[in-house]
Amino acid sequence: MKIPKGFSFAAMNAGIKTLRKDMALVYSELPCSAAGVLTVNKARAAPVEDAAGRLPGSGFRAIVVNSGNANALTGPEGREDVAAIHAALGKALGVPRESVLSASTGVIGVRLPVQKLILGCAGLARSRSDAIVGAAEAIMTTDTRVKLTHRVVSVGGIAVTIAAFCKGAGMIAPEMATMLAFLTTDASIDPKTLQGMLERATLASFNNLTVDNDMSTNDAVFLLANGASGAPPLRDKAELANFEAQLTSICVELARAIAEDGEGATKLVEVRVSGAPDLATARDLAKSVAGSSLVKAAIFGADPNWGRVLSAIGARAGSRGYPVDPHAARVTIQGDVVFDLGRPAHKDPASLRAKMREPQVKIDVDLRKGSGEATSWGCDLSYDYVKINADYTSLTQASPEGVVSRDDRLTRYSPSFKRALLVEALSYIQKFDGKRAVVKYGGAAMVKDSLKASFANDINLLRSAGLLPVVVHGGGPEISRTLEKLGAGKSEFVDGIRVTGAEDVKVVEMVLTGRINSEIVSLLNQEDANAVGVSGKDAGLLRARRLYGKDGRDLGMVGEITQVNHMYLSMLLEKGYVPIISPVGLGEDGEGYNINADTAAAEIAVSLKAEKLIYLTDVAGILDHEELISEISAKDLRAKIDSGSIRGGMAAKAESILRALDGGVTSVHVIDGRTPHGLIAELFTDTGIGTLVRRD
Ligand code: ADP
Ligand code: MG
Repeated sequence: MKIPKGFSFAAMNAGIKTLRKDMALVYSELPCSAAGVLTVNKARAAPVEDAAGRLPGSGFRAIVVNSGNANALTGPEGREDVAAIHAALGKALGVPRESVLSASTGVIGVRLPVQKLILGCAGLARSRSDAIVGAAEAIMTTDTRVKLTHRVVSVGGIAVTIAAFCKGAGMIAPEMATMLAFLTTDASIDPKTLQGMLERATLASFNNLTVDNDMSTNDAVFLLANGASGAPPLRDKAELANFEAQLTSICVELARAIAEDGEGATKLVEVRVSGAPDLATARDLAKSVAGSSLVKAAIFGADPNWGRVLSAIGARAGSRGYPVDPHAARVTIQGDVVFDLGRPAHKDPASLRAKMREPQVKIDVDLRKGSGEATSWGCDLSYDYVKINADYTSLTQASPEGVVSRDDRLTRYSPSFKRALLVEALSYIQKFDGKRAVVKYGGAAMVKDSLKASFANDINLLRSAGLLPVVVHGGGPEISRTLEKLGAGKSEFVDGIRVTGAEDVKVVEMVLTGRINSEIVSLLNQEDANAVGVSGKDAGLLRARRLYGKDGRDLGMVGEITQVNHMYLSMLLEKGYVPIISPVGLGEDGEGYNINADTAAAEIAVSLKAEKLIYLTDVAGILDHEELISEISAKDLRAKIDSGSIRGGMAAKAESILRALDGGVTSVHVIDGRTPHGLIAELFTDTGIGTLVRRD
């Protein structure tokens, strides 16, 4: 993350929330041109009202943001509190109070604990640094991860940076649905030009976002330009256009991130309408499709229900009087044409359904009328969304001292919700209690923050359902990167297994045990999962001998497991620990051997007599000619391997799966680690989401 020259940031807990960061600061050493796009809600919050009267403008130095309390519908006191905070921050920073802007997000109708914020201002001023991430964290409410990005643009041959962070509209209660974005740049731009650019960028991005249909009292996008890059003031037409394109691309990236992180969302939905009579019509229609509850529910269920898409277009066009004809449109879902020339066009619904299980679903509607074209972003509508929303309002509480917290004790949910939850949970607890499940953790689920968080969550859920999870992790991409960085060049793979030289195996061990393993342990223990990191060398957990390729080929320090110290693992499991195993084997020669994580997971599952073995990977499951196999027997899987339709990394997995089933594991699942909470969906629903391999 690169930040523009002359800007610094700060974040802290000022006591509005119980523990999490709740105040953020954006500060510029030089006075800035400032622009803002603010909510048109008539019940605007006090800080928004304040900014509206002063933007666009120049001479601005700082923005102070708080989360936890929206300072909306708080009467004249709300405005007084804003003034007091601006004065306090101005004093702490040694800048005029008029140079301070502010924004708030959180509960509506509760007065700000203004003394806490005033003290907070002093703390923020003291702790300024280039750590923009902290600021991005401090503005989160229902967001599950930070959202920030940057671009570098050349102006007059000098590099200019634009950096931005935002928080999204959680799809839940309207009082929490605020979207805030803060953009900073070291370009030199006059306020009027800046305002025009920001308005157009917002129109093409945040305004095409539909998370819920409520407009917040606090929505705000701010842009500060301080000129500290030393680049000449932006006036040249081509350069202005280039800068605006990058600014827009930042806003689009953030808008997509917000949609992806919608409450309860499992998929990002992108709707592109082209061939509309004009741009405004295209935008409105794209948004009406992305916002349609029926379309969103169909996408959650991976149902290619194009009728709902055209129905949404038709309904909106009809009520607004747009001159468009849905019958003449062409509709494409995930690249497959589903409706064209007045009739259904699709031939292979099964393959389209498989494509719709991807974490991003794209719908294209060509109206064949004009040149208007626009994209809108949203998310699917999941069971989770309804569950959360059905009970949300009673959960947010503000104490008399202004501390906002969530009381989600079970007692506060409605009786019907509790009943459903308990019945569902109890049946699984009975089924799973005391059973062992080995999970191979790999792919995007190990890289992407939101997926990491959902994985940690799922492991805890498995534990609370009585299951005893064991995690075996891979580390492929990171090992490759490190080896390449160290000048070892690209690794050679034979049947999905990395040929590992004597020097390489030290790097493999360093990355797997030293870095990845300890990261996973910390991730899980942030959620009190009782995770312990174990290398295959510890307690002689994985004994190994040298493995040779099919035709006797030398694979270097690659090992196969000869024995698993399952007593040691059983002891950890009995004591309530979650073992996190890095697949390094201990050879008779005392050397470390690189063991394919898929085979390690299988051997461990066999030796532990595990009920389940689960592979998290970056495809929907085991595919047969691009079609997901949702259930298959060991015998049929063998036939598929022999026919050559399973290759590379999946071939290594398939062999491991057969080995595990042969060794007594009851069922093996291959699931899409790119889908949040896939682990839960596979185990706790009857149909599941990935591939289930049964014994013959
Ligand atoms: P991981 O990091 O989870 O071990 P791999 O890349 O080693 O993932 O293995 C999964 C890969 O195997 C898939 O991404 C895909 O490219 C490849 N593959 C080959 N044949 C198949 C198949 N029939 N079904 C699914 N994936 C396959
Ligand atoms: Mg692999």
